[in-house]
Amino acid sequence: MHARAVPYHVSADDFERIAVAALDSIPADLRARLDADNLMITIQSGSSEDDRDHDIDEHVLGFYEGDADSAFSISPYPKRIVLLQRHIEAYCTSHRELVDQVTDTVLHEVAHYFGLDHADIRDTRLDH
Ligand SMILES: [Zn+2]
Repeated sequence: MHARAVPYHVSADDFERIAVAALDSIPADLRARLDADNLMITIQSGSSEDDRDHDIDEHVLGFYEGDADSAFSISPYPKRIVLLQRHIEAYCTSHRELVDQVTDTVLHEVAHYFGLDHADIRDTRLDH
């Protein structure tokens, strides 16, 4: 049994800077495709009631929202990756861990954006 570590908290601004740096770590050619498609990264402190209706619980660190699941209606939202700041922080005890976890989560969701499923992701270093 491990004692539950104290979450490592940062300000919303610091968290956003870490997320932007994670995006910047993506190879330029892939990054250009994200930019061309206006893929957004949204940071939420935690899951909303609507998210929880979609099985986004406290163990979910982030998710990708595309238009694939709304075949019969035009999504009112652009394609976006949502990072759940408090959920990610709960797994981290240091700044280094937070940077690693945010980076893993961003790369994982970017992999979903490019159409990889979890079996595909396991075969790459994008697994976390
Ligand atoms: Zn996933």
